[in-house]
Amino acid sequence: MNKHNTPLYLDWAATAPLRPEVAEAIRPYLDPHVLDANTNSLHSPGRVSFAVLEDARKTVSQTLGARRPNEIVFTSGATEANNAAVYGIVSACVKRRKHKGESNFVPHIITTHIEHDSILEATKVLKSLGCEVSSLAPNRQGFIEEDDLKEALTKSTALVSIQMANNEIGSIQPVARYAKVVHQQGALLHVDAVQALGKTPLNMQELGVDALSVSSHKIGGPKGVGALYLKANTPFDALLSGGGQEEGRRSGTHNLAGIVGFAKACELAGKEQDRASQQLGRMRDALYQKLSNIKRIHPTIQVSEGSHDFLPHIVSVCVEGMESETLILRLDEKGFAVSGGSACSSSSLEPSHVLRALGIAPNLIQGALRISFGATTRQDDLDRFCDALQASLAR
Ligand code: PMP
Repeated sequence: MNKHNTPLYLDWAATAPLRPEVAEAIRPYLDPHVLDANTNSLHSPGRVSFAVLEDARKTVSQTLGARRPNEIVFTSGATEANNAAVYGIVSACVKRRKHKGESNFVPHIITTHIEHDSILEATKVLKSLGCEVSSLAPNRQGFIEEDDLKEALTKSTALVSIQMANNEIGSIQPVARYAKVVHQQGALLHVDAVQALGKTPLNMQELGVDALSVSSHKIGGPKGVGALYLKANTPFDALLSGGGQEEGRRSGTHNLAGIVGFAKACELAGKEQDRASQQLGRMRDALYQKLSNIKRIHPTIQVSEGSHDFLPHIVSVCVEGMESETLILRLDEKGFAVSGGSACSSSSLEPSHVLRALGIAPNLIQGALRISFGATTRQDDLDRFCDALQASLAR
């Protein structure tokens, strides 16, 4: 437990605590005496809100290294951004091809076995509507092989959606290389960069991707807000239509407080990324080292010291002969909050689809633990966690 008598939080990949600077930036919008006018209104309070919105857009766009602020579309989070990218790009590509006379065009979509459910479910829906979907398996370390991608691409491939960094094991895909391969075949690339933001360099012009999703709450911003980067001229049909906000790409009254908080979190994440990643990476390496020395604990992947191929803040292990749920509850009793796999799917008690895709034995997957940490985590917190885990195993 920490001084507030709450468990030591080691589940930052599920959501990061709100940063004090972000809380400060949002505060005026929670004051009933301050008017938070609709950004679409023509009167002066509306114009003030609109200016704040556009300032926030500029900040997010700079953090992501976009060419222009209007390449940023604010959304309700990355689940929406991912769904919007998959449906919106495929729909617009089909229209373009039909317009060019390919009336029987059936779009092909490529994704991977280790995507977040918001991508997997969206591609399932497209498959049920008649689209062709290929899913690439990762290698044992959680990386998609470039040759597999090349082989899967066809003349009908409209969209490839590959995550930048995995939320359970932390593998970071070489997205810039994939963008070249995908573009050579005339397809478009969407990237889920939710876990990558603030943890690894992220620059749209260097990566060369067509679309990319990010989420505010993973970097200490408020929940329920995120963005879809859409490179200029990327074919896209809006998922949400109505009032025409976001240049018609996402209708709905803006969550200005959330967007302001998200922009503040982006600004800080961008400034601090390099140093934060180094510090977190050292803790990751030490934690893997310590956990590997505990009997019955198996790292799910091999992360070499100082590696930049894996996120610096996620450690993934399997505990032999134990169920994740039992361990999580025992650790919670001892004052440590960790996760079994990803928080998004952990309530379903389904074994992790990511660990299954790596080919890990089902009995080991049952005991999966994900420990993830952030700026306020200290090395001695992780040392105490290791002792508690060892004690939980002995019980
Ligand atoms: N993609 C990844 C890789 C994630 O980890 C998450 C959050 N668990 C999401 C997408 C969904 O983000 P949000 O919570 O903003 O909907």
